[in-house]
Amino acid sequence: MKTLAVSVVTPDGPVLEDTFQMVSCKAESGELGIMPGHIPLVAPLTISGVRLKGENSTDTLAVNGGFLEVRPDKVTILAQSAELPSSIDVERARRAKERAERRLQSKQDDIDFKRAEMALKRAINRLDVTQQ
Ligand code: ATP
Repeated sequence: MKTLAVSVVTPDGPVLEDTFQMVSCKAESGELGIMPGHIPLVAPLTISGVRLKGENSTDTLAVNGGFLEVRPDKVTILAQSAELPSSIDVERARRAKERAERRLQSKQDDIDFKRAEMALKRAINRLDVTQQ
């Protein structure tokens, strides 16, 4: 059975380095399913969960944007942040979600709505990944 070497890197350092059978992720252009032998590709990723299917189990990573680079035998994800469910602080994500929702509901002029929207997406993504 052919496998893919997967490496996930953030500014804080490497998050994961292992081999898998399939990588499923959400690029800005749509869903991608990568298996060994895939044609080379570079694609921007959305704030979403990346599913890594191994021989006996599937891991899901909460990825905050960044890029996917595909070569026939290797997938590299370079992201601003990426967490496995085991390293997600659920309380922190809940607080971040509430903070972002308050900001989005507020009528104040000095709220940066785009920034609050992105923070909300990151928090929801982290909570989703811990529930899978
Ligand atoms: P917060 O407002 O709680 O800081 P954030 O979405 O603004 O959340 P980021 O800027 O995306 O945080 O991430 C900053 C760093 O903190 C990254 O290293 C990221 O992996 C980590 N991080 C953020 N939220 C969590 C969380 N809920 N659990 C674990 N690590 C987190």
